Amino acid sequence: MSSAPTPTDPTPATDDEATAFADLGLRPELLGALSALGYEEPTPIQREAIPPLLAGRDLLGQAATGTGKTAAFALPLLQRMPDDRSAGDPASLVLVPTRELAVQVSEAFHRYGKDLGARVLPIYGGQPIGRQLRALDMGVDVVVATPGRALDHIARGTLRLGSLATVVLDEADEMLDMGFAEDIEAILEHAPEQRQTVLFSATMPSRIDGLARQHLTDPVRIQIGREQPVAGEQPRVRQSAYIVARGHKPAALGRVLDVESPTAAIVFCRSREEVDRLTETMNGRGYRAEALHGGMSQEQRDRVMGRLRGGTADLLVATDVAARGLDVEQLTHVVNYDVPSAPESYVHRIGRVGRAGREGVAITLAEPREHRMLKTIERVTGQRIAIDKIPTVADLRTRRLELTQAALRESLLEDDLEPFRAIVESLSDEFDMMEVALAGVKLAHEATLPGTTDEEAEIPQVAVRPAREGRPGYEGRGERRGGRPRAAGTTQVFIGLGRRAGVRPQDLVGAITGETGVSGRDIGSIEIADRFSLVEIPNAVADEVIAGLRGSTIKGRKATVRRDRDGDGDGGGDRRERRDRW
Ligand code: AMP
Repeated sequence: MSSAPTPTDPTPATDDEATAFADLGLRPELLGALSALGYEEPTPIQREAIPPLLAGRDLLGQAATGTGKTAAFALPLLQRMPDDRSAGDPASLVLVPTRELAVQVSEAFHRYGKDLGARVLPIYGGQPIGRQLRALDMGVDVVVATPGRALDHIARGTLRLGSLATVVLDEADEMLDMGFAEDIEAILEHAPEQRQTVLFSATMPSRIDGLARQHLTDPVRIQIGREQPVAGEQPRVRQSAYIVARGHKPAALGRVLDVESPTAAIVFCRSREEVDRLTETMNGRGYRAEALHGGMSQEQRDRVMGRLRGGTADLLVATDVAARGLDVEQLTHVVNYDVPSAPESYVHRIGRVGRAGREGVAITLAEPREHRMLKTIERVTGQRIAIDKIPTVADLRTRRLELTQAALRESLLEDDLEPFRAIVESLSDEFDMMEVALAGVKLAHEATLPGTTDEEAEIPQVAVRPAREGRPGYEGRGERRGGRPRAAGTTQVFIGLGRRAGVRPQDLVGAITGETGVSGRDIGSIEIADRFSLVEIPNAVADEVIAGLRGSTIKGRKATVRRDRDGDGDGGGDRRERRDRW
C-alpha cells in the first residue's frame, strides 16, 4: 500500500456505517453529556440495548466489563425517570456484587445524568449507614446497591421499592457466586410486579437462566461476542496483553513501548477526552505523540498523519472513529489502551498492522476486571492473546543495553569511523583499550536515555484470575461446606473480625473483590468464628488480597489481616470455637 498522504486520509466514519447516539432516541441532555465526555459512538451493546430499554422491554444481556454495559442500562434509566419526582422514592434500583462496582456505577449515572438533575445514591456495606439514611430520606431517583445492604434498608423501611419502574441486576453471575441469590430473591419480592427487569451477566450458567426465566418477561436477548470466529486470512500479528491497575496505565504504556521500541505505534483510547489526556501525558514523558479524534478538522488530521509518515511523530493516540480506514506503512505496533468494547473492534484495530505480509504487534492493557473480555476476544478471533508480565526495571535496563549494543554493531559495520581514530589513539596512550571502549559505550548509552526518572519505579503486577474450569477446589461459592482439606496451591488468610462483628461471607468476598482484581469465584472456603474469619485464596493472589484487606474496612472496622499461622487453620484462636463454613 502507498504511504503517500491522501487528502481524505484517515477516513472519518460515514453515517450509514455507524449509528450515532442521536439515532438511538436519547434526549438532548444525555447526548450533551456523552459529547462532553468525548464518547464518539455507541458500543455494540449500547446500540442493541438502548432502544428496547427505552421502550420499556425486559432485557437479558451477556456482556462483560469493558463492553460499555453500564451506559447501556444507565442512559435508558435516566431517560425514563418520571417527570414528577417529588415523592422521593427511587424509580430505579441497580444491584451490583461489590462496593467498588456500586461506586463506579453511581459515578457513571452522575456523569450521564448531570443535566437531568438525577439524584443517584450508592449504598453498600462498610459505609456508615447514617449517611445513607440521610440521603435516602432526602429523596433519590436511582439507588445502586449491593444486595446485603439493600436488604438491610428494606427491612428498616428506609428503602421503599413501591415506586420502582426498573430493577437492574448487574454482573448477576458474580452476585450468585458471592452467595447473594437469596438476598436478590427477597429484594425482587418487594419490587412492584409491573416493572422492567434488566439482567447483565458475563457468563450464562443455568442458574442465571433460571433467575431470568423467573423474573424477566419476554426479554430481549443480547450477547456480545457471539459472532462466529473470524474466517479467512488472519494478519500476522503477535498478540499480548498486560493486566494493569488503572492508575498505573500511563507508566505501563511507557514501559511497554520502551521495551518494544516500535518504529511507529497507534494507541487506541475509548474517548476524545482520554486521547487528549494520554497524548499530553506521553509527550510529557518524552514521546513524540499526536492526537487523532473525531473532534478535529480534516485539515488537522491530515497534518497529524503527515507528521507520522514523515517520522516527526512516532506515537498516534486515536479513537476508533478517527482511525477508521487508516493505513500507515510505518506502523509496527497497535496498543489498546483499554480493552475494546467488542471483538469486532479488536479485529479492526489490530488490522492496522500486519498488512501486506508485514509483521505487527498488538498489545492490550486490560484492567483486572476486564480480563474476561480478553477471553471473549480470543474465542471470537480464534487466536491466543498471551498475558505477559509488565517489564520490570531490570528488564527495561537489559533491553536498553541490547539496543545500545545493536546500535554500536550497526555503527561498526558502517564506514564512517575514521574521524574518531585520533581520539582513540591519543586516549590509548594513557588508558587501556578496553577502558576507552567502555567509556565510549557508556556515553552512547546515556545519550539514548529519556530525561524522565519514573522508569526507576516498579509497576505492580496484578495477578490474573486463574481459569475457573477444571480447577478442583474453585467450584464457586456456596458449594463448599464441611471440613474439607485446603485445596492445593492455596493460602488461608486470617482476618481478625468474625461473627461478633456481624461479618458474613458476602462481606468478606465483597471486601476482597472490591479491593483487588480477584473474582468471587476464586475464593475458596470461608470460615467465620466468633472473633475471626479464615478465607482460602490462591497463593498467587495472597499478597494482593492481604494488602487490599489491610487497606480497607470490613463492616466499618479495620481488621488484623495476615497469613494464617503455619496454615494450621487455627486462626490463632480457640480451636474449639464454633466456626461456620461456607
Ligand atoms: P463498562 O463496560 O460499562 O464498565 O464501561 C467501560 C468503559 O467504557 C467505561 O470507562 C466507560 O466510561 C467507557 N465507555 C462506555 N461507553 C462508551 C462509548 N460509547 N464511548 C467511549 N467510551 C465508553
